[in-house]
Amino acid sequence: MDAVVVGSGPNGLAAAVILARAGLEVEVYEAASTVGGGARTAELALPGFRFDVCAAVHPMGLASPFFRAFDLAAHGVEMLTPEVSYAHPLDDGRVGLAWRDLERTATELASDGPAWRSLFRPLVERWPGLVEVAMSDLRRWPADPLTALRFGLRVLEQGSPLWGARFRGPIAPALLTGVSAHALTPPRALPPAAVGLLLAALGHTVGWPLPRGGSQAISNALAADLQRHGGRIITGHRVQSLADLPAARTVLLNTSPAELVRIASSALPTRYHRWLRSFRYGAAACKVDFALSGPVPWATAGCHLAGTLHLVGHRHEAVAAEHTVAAGHHAERPYVLAVQPGVVDPSRAPQDQATLSVYAHVPHGSPVDVSDTVIAQIERFAPGFRDLILAHHTLTAAQLEHHNANYLGGDIAAGALTTWQTLFRPVPRWDPYSTPLPGVYLCSASTPPGPGVHGMAGLHAAHRVLRQHFNIHTNPLQLLRGTAQPAAARE
Ligand SMILES: Cc1cc2nc3c(=O)[nH]c(=O)nc-3n(C[C@H](O)[C@H](O)[C@H](O)COP(=O)(O)OP(=O)(O)OC[C@H]3O[C@@H](n4cnc5c(N)ncnc54)[C@H](O)[C@@H]3O)c2cc1C
Repeated sequence: MDAVVVGSGPNGLAAAVILARAGLEVEVYEAASTVGGGARTAELALPGFRFDVCAAVHPMGLASPFFRAFDLAAHGVEMLTPEVSYAHPLDDGRVGLAWRDLERTATELASDGPAWRSLFRPLVERWPGLVEVAMSDLRRWPADPLTALRFGLRVLEQGSPLWGARFRGPIAPALLTGVSAHALTPPRALPPAAVGLLLAALGHTVGWPLPRGGSQAISNALAADLQRHGGRIITGHRVQSLADLPAARTVLLNTSPAELVRIASSALPTRYHRWLRSFRYGAAACKVDFALSGPVPWATAGCHLAGTLHLVGHRHEAVAAEHTVAAGHHAERPYVLAVQPGVVDPSRAPQDQATLSVYAHVPHGSPVDVSDTVIAQIERFAPGFRDLILAHHTLTAAQLEHHNANYLGGDIAAGALTTWQTLFRPVPRWDPYSTPLPGVYLCSASTPPGPGVHGMAGLHAAHRVLRQHFNIHTNPLQLLRGTAQPAAARE
């Protein structure tokens, strides 16, 4: 065997696809009974209602270098893009709407329109350069240094006390903070600013699409491509020890650092072992999926067009809620992220009915079912929501870890996004993917570029495996585009 991949999340499958396309013999072992890790779809709450258990919205499914080269559309995945990427309602009936169209967004932001435009236009105009730097292994000189510089300066501004300086009203800052909070950490810091600016810029370019039928479509497309290139997938098999695996020249772990410690503990050198054990996991999410008798009755016009909504109110409320959670407490009015797939994809629910997938930020490891708090937070912006609920299904933060071992304590970012852990993820090494164990690599969201369905940690790890163990120097993107022959690739 050339390569064994442990875990079939988007990064594991991305790595496996690249290695198989290079002509290697690849086998994937997955603990769950289905492939996809954080990109899986299941019938929950009631028969006929299908929900994305974790990731639902996929700007990176269109924008990441891996997926641009793989081309989901060519593999039969239909990405459906709402007109409004995300919405952020306030209590007084005002709302921030991030249209795909930057100009329309700026116009509606009125007095803050010019500030929004000047913040995003340089990033939007050169978005491939922006994505290239944000999705890199953070160990190379950027291909588009000007865009990298513009991004860096904006991250410094939005991650510092200067973050409000360019805005006059409350809507634009709240709109941006709602996106930065995806980083699951108090938003006025460099990593959440980077996450917010990247995702918000993509909201004005490729948009924030949802795959028809759910995120499982992405995972199935990757798995089918792997199998077409000779790869094998074994599901329902949680690897307990590296020694259990079939003999292979290389092993790629699509797992958390804690799982590497668990399955290889005695073999790891002391210093590396200590580093892995000091890797910090952060705040968590409690997921609530609602089966509804009809679409959500949003109080504010425009919300019904958005695929994603950030429900927390003003910027200062988001900051307070995130600090409460970071301090280990439940917020009374937490940050709630809601996705309404029905805006573009009616296939998720029976006719005239609807689904709403929601998660709230909660403290690490929380066993608390916060569905009542979540319902109250939605009611705040959509009075009458409660009356539409037919059934709901909750996964507490503690239960999320059982769904997927990578989300320790329900940390959906697979490791806190501190500045240190953004740059040195999971350990301070020049090559963050290799481990001291010969031929063993990490390739999960706990390595650069961090969380999200982008396949890039898998790509960076696979690139190193090809070069270092098989003397294959072909660019993985060429393998994905089909412009390199496997036979020619392997020297
Ligand atoms: C509630 C929630 C909402 C999210 N929303 C979004 C979103 O809208 N958009 C987005 O881009 N991202 C989102 N994310 C984040 C995204 O899902 C993850 O960042 C992404 O899936 C990470 O991919 P990965 O390949 O590194 O690992 P994962 O997708 O986590 O997959 C890891 C796989 O490894 C398997 N595994 C672990 N240990 C073992 C073992 N010992 N043996 C065998 N198998 C093992 C697990 O079962 C799992 O299948 C969300 C996450 C959650 C939880």
